[in-house]
Amino acid sequence: TAVAIVNDGNVTIEQSNRSPQSGHRTEGPVESREKSAVLHRSLSHDPFRVVSGEGNYLRLSNGQNIFDATGGAAVACLGHGNKRVRQAVMDQMDCVSYCHSLFYATAAAEDLARLLTTSTGGEMVRAFFVSSGSEAVEAALKLARQYHLEKKPGEPQRKHFIARQQSYHGTTLGALAVGGHVARREVFEPILSINSSRVSPCYTYRGMSSVLEHETAYVRRLEAELEVEFQRVGPDSVAAFIAEPVVGAALGCVPAAKGYFQAVRRVCDRHGALLIFDEVMCGAGRIGPESTARFSSPLHAWQDPHIGVVPDIMTMGKGLGGGYMPIAAMLANERVIDVLQRGTGAFSHGQTYQGHPLACRAALEVQRIIAEDDLVANVRKQGVLLGKLLMDKLGTHPAVGDIRGRGLFWAIEFVSNKTTKEPFESTEAVAMGVHELGMQDPYNISLYPGTGTVDGRRGDHIILAPAYNVNENEIRHVVDTTVLV
Ligand code: PLP
Repeated sequence: TAVAIVNDGNVTIEQSNRSPQSGHRTEGPVESREKSAVLHRSLSHDPFRVVSGEGNYLRLSNGQNIFDATGGAAVACLGHGNKRVRQAVMDQMDCVSYCHSLFYATAAAEDLARLLTTSTGGEMVRAFFVSSGSEAVEAALKLARQYHLEKKPGEPQRKHFIARQQSYHGTTLGALAVGGHVARREVFEPILSINSSRVSPCYTYRGMSSVLEHETAYVRRLEAELEVEFQRVGPDSVAAFIAEPVVGAALGCVPAAKGYFQAVRRVCDRHGALLIFDEVMCGAGRIGPESTARFSSPLHAWQDPHIGVVPDIMTMGKGLGGGYMPIAAMLANERVIDVLQRGTGAFSHGQTYQGHPLACRAALEVQRIIAEDDLVANVRKQGVLLGKLLMDKLGTHPAVGDIRGRGLFWAIEFVSNKTTKEPFESTEAVAMGVHELGMQDPYNISLYPGTGTVDGRRGDHIILAPAYNVNENEIRHVVDTTVLV
């Protein structure tokens, strides 16, 4: 198994007996070497054991203090151990910890829904709370299907979803079926039964045909490809197009080209398909959306003028609850809700833990803190610094093909050849090697490795997504301890 050790200007792939899938070390106190009863991703290499978390740091059982520069996978937006969130959850515990949402409403869920719909400037009118991003995507797919069914019951039924290649929308079968993550799909391919197909992602680094192609020409090309796909599957069979406004884990923090989502919206509108934005990873302030006249305190990626398109349905996750509780959301606009209201009057979907009071209360406090402390402004400010420092330090590194991102959501894509953009041969080897290096003394930093940038399998990157309340010194520390030594 290869592990990458990257020296000034030189990339060395060393042989190691550690699995690139595991990313975990062999040292540590006895308890972390005991056979695990948890079914981890790797059956042979247990993860590091965390004993506590405070602020930006995770303390491991071997005494190491790790700077959590990714908040898991862009989750811990307030860092760890926030006392206000803790108190809010305890207060909710004293009030009520669970009741079934079919029969009961709680202030926690109602207040969170109100805060979120208000944050959209009224574009979204209802919020539905579940426990994970995958479930939020499932709910979005089902809502899109039900919308069309109730809108025109007698018409050809819309049951096809168009997504993009190299996309990840979650791990449940429906979310996996629409997504284009080849490696994560392949074992389950025969049981992914949703009608879906995929077009090219908007990925300027690898997608633009040459340096001579202008961004607007690239966008036109992608628009034409989407139109052809609608025609191929039958325009009135398409229920929705789903995409991440800024691609997260699958490609590594890829913002769309200017005008791209306007083009997508045009095609969807032309054919009566809904537009679903999956903001599980890039939403809730993570990309530091810019203020506009319409949205003075934007929270959602689509509110950024660079994206500038309102979806019909959107999802949130990760930074919604900041990791304090498992919570994600699906939000829908009036056009969609109105059809259900006039139709069956119900959303045909429900889960035991939907609108869980403790989870909603935790997320409500997280979102209140983000708003009160003006943290999205800090995301914008520190994000500019993070991007600049990464470019300064690594822009000319021979193993770095691209550095991209927005707000506190940045990725470094590795290549074996900067000119041809050829990835390293061994999938994940460099990203995982960099992750492993980071976890060692004296670096003590946690970075998120990803793979599949070239074709869903080859090509790797690491993601940096620190907490929204980081300061300048902490950003400098992140870059100083990052990666390539
Ligand atoms: N959608 C996107 C864009 C994601 O990045 C993820 C997770 O990484 C999901 C959906 C699935 O979320 P979860 O892992 O919480 O189920």
